[in-house]
Amino acid sequence: MCRSVNESLGLCVFGLKCCVVYLCMCVRECQPPSKDDFKTFPQVGVLSYQPEHSRSCPSAESGEFLQAAPVGQQTMADNNTQKKKPHWTSLEIGLLTIVSLLFVIIVALIVLFITQSGKDGVCITADCTQSASRLIENMDPTVNPCDNFYQYACGGWLKKNIIPETSSRYSTFDILRDELEVVLKGVLEREESRSSSSLTKAKVLYRSCTNESVIEQRGGTPLFTVLQDVFEWPIATDDWDTNYGMNWRAEDAIAKLNEKYGKQVLISFFIGTDDRDSNAHIIHFDQPSLGLSSRDYYVCTGPYEEACVTYENFMTDLAKLIRTDRGLKVNDTNIRQEVARVMMMEKEIANATDTPEDRNNPVLLYNKMPLEILNNNFTLEFDSRVFNWTLFTNKIMDTVGIPITDSEEVIVYAPNYFKRLNPVLAKYTKRDVQNYMVWRFIMNLVVGLSKTYRETRKAFRKAIYGTTSEPAVWRQCAIYVNNNMENAVGRLYVEEAFPGDSKDMMDEMITNITDVFVSNLDDLAWMDAETKKAAGEKARAIRERIGFSENIMNNTYLDQEYQDLSYRAEEYFENILKNLEFGQKKRLKKLKIKVNKEEWITGAAVVNAFYSSSRNQIVFPAGILQPPFFGKGQPWSLNYGGIGMVIGHEITHGFDDNGRNFDKDGDLKDWWTPSSTQKFHELSKCIVDQYGSYSWDLANGQNLNGNNTLGENIADNGGIRQSYQAYQNYVKKHGKEAPLPGIDLNHEQLFFLNFAQVWCGTHRPEHAVNSIKTDVHSPGKFRVLGSLQNFPEFAKAFQCQKNTNMVPEKICRVW
Ligand SMILES: [Zn+2]
Repeated sequence: MCRSVNESLGLCVFGLKCCVVYLCMCVRECQPPSKDDFKTFPQVGVLSYQPEHSRSCPSAESGEFLQAAPVGQQTMADNNTQKKKPHWTSLEIGLLTIVSLLFVIIVALIVLFITQSGKDGVCITADCTQSASRLIENMDPTVNPCDNFYQYACGGWLKKNIIPETSSRYSTFDILRDELEVVLKGVLEREESRSSSSLTKAKVLYRSCTNESVIEQRGGTPLFTVLQDVFEWPIATDDWDTNYGMNWRAEDAIAKLNEKYGKQVLISFFIGTDDRDSNAHIIHFDQPSLGLSSRDYYVCTGPYEEACVTYENFMTDLAKLIRTDRGLKVNDTNIRQEVARVMMMEKEIANATDTPEDRNNPVLLYNKMPLEILNNNFTLEFDSRVFNWTLFTNKIMDTVGIPITDSEEVIVYAPNYFKRLNPVLAKYTKRDVQNYMVWRFIMNLVVGLSKTYRETRKAFRKAIYGTTSEPAVWRQCAIYVNNNMENAVGRLYVEEAFPGDSKDMMDEMITNITDVFVSNLDDLAWMDAETKKAAGEKARAIRERIGFSENIMNNTYLDQEYQDLSYRAEEYFENILKNLEFGQKKRLKKLKIKVNKEEWITGAAVVNAFYSSSRNQIVFPAGILQPPFFGKGQPWSLNYGGIGMVIGHEITHGFDDNGRNFDKDGDLKDWWTPSSTQKFHELSKCIVDQYGSYSWDLANGQNLNGNNTLGENIADNGGIRQSYQAYQNYVKKHGKEAPLPGIDLNHEQLFFLNFAQVWCGTHRPEHAVNSIKTDVHSPGKFRVLGSLQNFPEFAKAFQCQKNTNMVPEKICRVW
C-alpha cells in the first residue's frame, strides 16, 4: 500500500511493511492511518548502547600509547644521565638529546607496531577486535559458504537468539532498534533543564503514556466521550437508530473520522504530492486499509482462520465491555449477530479493493479529474441516499478553512474500487456502516486505555503477529513519543548518542557509489544511449540527507513546530487524540502550500533508510549510522558491506519498477525510450521469477511474491554490486586493509559477510504468513541469497564452483 502513494515512502527499505509494523514515514506523508496504532509493535531485547565505539583505527593507536610508554621512558633516561657524567660539552649534550629522542621515538613506534598491528600486520584496535568478534559470533563456519551463504553468515546468530515473547520478529535490525529505544528511555525520563518547550512537551507526553496507575483508574471512560463525537458505536449503545440514525449522513460520519482523527475508513482521503507536479499538493482519493492485515486474510480459512475468529471475538468483547461499563444490558446473541454483519461487509469491501499487484504501476494509479466527475462517475449510495463527494470534501477541508469547488482537480488512485463499492453498500444499512467505521477507529484506540480494554485484543494480536505479551510499557511509550514528536525526540537522541562526525565519510561513500552507478550505465547492453544519459542525470541529481536536520538543534524552530500542542501528564488518551488531530490538520493545511523539498522526510532516531521518488532524495537518519552498518573505526570493507550497500540500495530505488517512472525532479514523467522500457521489463521478469521461486519455510512453505517485492529486490541487487565495486575502487586508491584478528577471511569476503549479517533474523510463523502478503521486502534470508546468487564477484571471492547452490546457471541483472 505504501508504495502506491505518491511520496513512495513504502520504499523505506529496511523496515517490515512500514505502514503496518514500524509506523514509518509513508504513513505520515500519504495516509495517517498507521499513526493510530499508537503503541507500536513489539520489539524487545535490551543491549547496552556504545557510542564510543566509533573511534577510528589511527586515533586509537596514537591515543593509547603516546601517553604511557614515552613518558615512562623519558623519566628513566633523565635520571640516568644526570648521575654518571656531569661535564659534557654542548655538542655531546646536543647529540645525546637527539639520540635520546630517537630512542624514545623508536621504542614508541615498536610498541605501537606490536600492540596495534599484531604479528602479521593484523589490525587489533578495539574497533577491529569488536568487529571481528561480532562477525565470528554470528557466523557458522561449519557451513559451506558456496552452499548456503545465509546459514554460513547467520548460523551462529540463529542459534544464539530466540524471539522475545513480545516480538513478532527478531533480527539484527530489531536489536539496533531495541537499543535505540533504551537510549530514548534514558533521555525522555531525564528532567528537562533547558528552556525548550518542545523538549518538555515530549517528556510530558512520555510521562502520560507511562502513567499506568492513572490509565488504569480511568478505565474506558475517556473513550465514551470520543464515541459520542463520532456519532456513536451502535452496537455499544441503546437507541442508536432514534438518537443518531435519523440524522445520520455518510458524509458527516466519514469526514468526522478523517478530519479530526486522521482515520480513513471506506474512503481514503488525503493531501499528498501531485505525482506529475512534485512541487504541488493535491487531494487524493484512494481505497482504505482494512482491519485485518491484507485482503487475503478475508478468506478466513487455513492460515487465516484464526485471525478471522479472533478479530470477531475482539469486536464482540470490546462491545460487551463498553456496554457493561456503561451499565447497559449485554445480549450476547445480538452482539454476535451485529459483529457477523460487520465482518461480512468488510469481507466484501476487501474483495472490492485492488490487489497490490494491480497497484504497482504509478502511471495507472494516476487518474486526475475535477471533483465533480466523482459525483457523476463514482456514485455511492448509503441507505439509498446518494453520497455527495463535494459536500464530503468540503466538510473535511472546512476544518482548515480551505473551501473547495466542484472544479477542484483531484487524483483518484482506485477508480475500480469505488465502482465495486457501491453494490456492496446496497446490501447494508447505515447502522451496519456506522458499526463498521467506528469499530475500525476504536480497535486501535484501546491501547490507550486500561488493561481490561487492552486485553480484548490479546488473542487477535497472537493470531496476527504471534506475540503472547505486550512489550514493556516504557518501550511502547518511547516508540509512541518518537513517532509523534520525531523532531523533538530526534534532538534528544542526537545529543545523547550520535557522534555526528560521520558526515564526511558518508559524503565520500555516496559520491563513490553514485560514480559506480553512473559508470556502470556504460556497460549495460540493454539500455540505449539516450536513456542512459537521462539515467545518469537523474543519479547525479539525487539529493542526500545524512544524520539529522540542523533545524532540530534550534529551540525556536522546534518550539514553533509544536506550539499548538499541549499535553497533560494525567490524560494519555486525550493526548493521543490531540496528536491525531494535530497531525491531520497539519497534513490538510498543506493543500495550498508548495511542497518543501528541503524538509526532512524522517526523524533522526530511526534505524532505517529512505528514498523518496517525488523528491529524488536519499535519507540516512542518525539511527542507522552505527555498527554493523557504519563505524568510523571499523574497516572500510565492513562499512561498504553495511551502509555502502544501503546507499546503493537507496540510489537504485530511483531506478526500480516504481522509481524509474519519476524523472530527476521527482515528477512522474516518462524519460525512457520504448525499447529500453521493454528491455527493463524483460530483465525485471527474470528477478520476479527468481524470487517468486523461493519457498519460505516459516510461512508454511509459501512462495514469495516476486511482483510485490520486485522494487526492493532490484534495489538489493543493484546496491550490493555498486557498493562492492566502490570498495574495490577504494582499495585501488588506498591499498589493502589490514586483516582482522581471529578470522581467516580477506576483506572481499568480509564485505559479503557483513552484508549478510545485517539480515540475520527470524520470524514467528504468524508474522511470516502476514509479512509474505504485506511486506514489500523479501525476508532477510532471501535478500542475501538472491542478490549474491546474481553477483559473480561473490562466487569469485569465496571461490565457489559452478553448480553449487550459490552459483546458479541462470542469473538476473538489471542495474
Ligand atoms: Zn528499499
